[in-house]
Amino acid sequence: MAEAVKTEEKVVVKKFRKPSKKKVCAFCVAGEKTIDYKDIAKIRKYVTEKGKILPRRQTGVCAYHQRELCTAVKRARNVALLPYVGD
Ligand SMILES: [Zn+2]
Repeated sequence: MAEAVKTEEKVVVKKFRKPSKKKVCAFCVAGEKTIDYKDIAKIRKYVTEKGKILPRRQTGVCAYHQRELCTAVKRARNVALLPYVGD
C-alpha cells in the first residue's frame, strides 16, 4: 500500500517539473555574427567528447547560431581540428 502511494507521488513530481531558466545564446550576447572554425576553444564547448554537436535545447544557442556552429564544426572536422569520432 505504501509503495503504491510512493509511485503515485513520483508521477506527480514528474508532471510538475519546474521549468528551467531560459538560456540565452552566447554568440548573440557576444555580438558575433559568424563562428570561426579555427576557434576550437569556443567550438569545443558545443561538442561532446565523442565528437557530436550538442543540441540547441542543451546549449541554449539560437537557431541561426546553431546553424553557423554546425558548419563551423564540420569545417573544423574537415581540417582535422576536431575529431569526427572522439574516444
Ligand atoms: Zn545566437
